[in-house]
Amino acid sequence: MTDRTPSEGADVCIVGAGPAGALAAHRLAEEGHDVVILEAGERFDFEDRQRRMERAIRPAHGPLSVWEMGGERDRFSSAGEWFYPLNAARVKGVGGTTLHWQGMVMRFHEEDFASWPIDYDDLRPYYAEAERALGVAGAADNPYAPPRDEPYPLPAFPPSYSDSIFAEACERLGVTMHSVPNARNSEGYDDRSACVGYGTCKPVCPSGAKYSADHHVEKAEESGVRVVTRAPVQRLEHDDAGERVTAAVYATPDGETHRQAAREFVLAAGGVEIPRLLLLSKSEEYPDGLANSSGAVGRYFMDHLFAGSGGTLDTETRQNHVGFITSECHQFYDDPTRGTEGSAGGVPEWSGEKEEPKPDSIKLEFLNYAGPSPVEMALTGEEFGDDLLDTLREGYGNSIAMGGLVGQRPRKENRITLDSSTTDDHGNPVPEIHWRVDARTKSSLRRANEIQHRILDELGVDVSWTVGPESTGPAFHHMGTTRMGSNSEESVVNAQLRTHDLANLSVASSSVFRTSGALNPTLTIAALSLKMADHVDERL
Ligand SMILES: Cc1cc2nc3c(=O)[nH]c(=O)nc-3n(C[C@H](O)[C@H](O)[C@H](O)COP(=O)(O)OP(=O)(O)OC[C@H]3O[C@@H](n4cnc5c(N)ncnc54)[C@H](O)[C@@H]3O)c2cc1C
Ligand code: SF4
Repeated sequence: MTDRTPSEGADVCIVGAGPAGALAAHRLAEEGHDVVILEAGERFDFEDRQRRMERAIRPAHGPLSVWEMGGERDRFSSAGEWFYPLNAARVKGVGGTTLHWQGMVMRFHEEDFASWPIDYDDLRPYYAEAERALGVAGAADNPYAPPRDEPYPLPAFPPSYSDSIFAEACERLGVTMHSVPNARNSEGYDDRSACVGYGTCKPVCPSGAKYSADHHVEKAEESGVRVVTRAPVQRLEHDDAGERVTAAVYATPDGETHRQAAREFVLAAGGVEIPRLLLLSKSEEYPDGLANSSGAVGRYFMDHLFAGSGGTLDTETRQNHVGFITSECHQFYDDPTRGTEGSAGGVPEWSGEKEEPKPDSIKLEFLNYAGPSPVEMALTGEEFGDDLLDTLREGYGNSIAMGGLVGQRPRKENRITLDSSTTDDHGNPVPEIHWRVDARTKSSLRRANEIQHRILDELGVDVSWTVGPESTGPAFHHMGTTRMGSNSEESVVNAQLRTHDLANLSVASSSVFRTSGALNPTLTIAALSLKMADHVDERL
């Protein structure tokens, strides 16, 4: 029988086995500390991934069933102006949400840190370590990226065939395309295989070429870390003085409740469950929740939003051969209002009305999975034989599309609270998400669409769909809910990622981000987590 009783004499207790928790655990164990991870979800066998992929591509299974997301355990409420589909946005299990993620990993730009208590240079060595840990395939061909001292650990994936179609139009418009840093093996690396092109990266990579954090959980275990699975932490307890956390109280499948004591505690449970856990841990000393003397716990919730557009072209575009993106564009990141100049005239400057807020950063992507794949069409269609073949020939092969991300500014009213009217499988109030997309974000989305349409028009695409301000949704990057800051009256953690209120409680997560930027967050999460681990190590 699996032993889920607490570890004796633990130095560090980490809550959550996603990338933030796994990387911190591995580093702290390598430094000789006794580490235990409490993980709410289960461990998924690597050998099972082929079967999970098959489940992913069959219409009888919803995408959430692949990693058993949802159900009583994952109940939530969405109370904001915009519905937030939380269960599509995270995986609970060893490896966390990186089991399901896309794996695009870039460093934030220097300007993104303007209001943070640390700057790009503070994180620079940790970014390099994070790239080595995740095994990032990339090239230094992005003229807009922040400075770097070392090459990527793996060569970049070559641009796809449809990237080469885009390249001609972008050249004529003066738009720069460059490679995407991918946490995915372009060749064998760190005992994981090279990408073999299954094309199902999201939600599952059967070969293991796409990085997922279960890899670092295993490495951590080899260094002596103990992982207790199916052990959702219910609350944290503190000492009489209210200065130190004394135990993480967790439940186990047999109905027992245990108390894990440790010298240091790290919350790495993701951007929604971290504030929820702090709010659930309210006490006489902290009636508004633990580490919440600022009142900022749960507030400033941010996500990125998707902007995209596509259609068909009178030529073959070869989509869905790979399940990831090989080219993107950061040209409109630091100044989204800028125009470009090329032989065909270029992208015009932002055309916004006077009263419309100026757009924020935009990242553009050249998609490799526009339109349905033949497998999807065959499995969802009603036809057989020659009829099906005709439909496949007609419907596959000439789709093309662009995507992109825009961010949100931190707004106090966007927040995670507790909804006491609904409880999870342990009787705890569920997280309630208050999420609204404001006028500035809508401006950014409009601007992204404007640029995308210019490029697609130049290419001669018959545009049939656009996802913009009125029809978009979140990119599933939970940020801002335990923000970092030097002022304890308006932030939850300091520059060392330690909570202002409790001397031995740290946070490893995008929940500490002060701003969202418009770049995928996980490399920055990984870099911050390694930095946080160094500070915990110094204290132990
Ligand atoms: C569809 C999709 C695509 C994405 N693509 C990208 C991408 O291309 N690039 C990128 O940078 N990011 C991407 N992301 C986001 C990325 O997956 C997350 O940023 C990253 O996984 C966050 O890491 P984390 O360790 O902070 O949290 P998570 O990975 O969410 O891990 C948190 C862990 O904590 C556990 N936990 C939660 N509550 C408790 C509790 N009370 N007790 C114990 N354990 C608990 C959970 O079970 C989970 O295993 C994507 C996400 C999704 C959903
Ligand atoms: S295409 Fe995606 S799913 Fe297939 S091997 Fe490469 S990374 Fe894995």
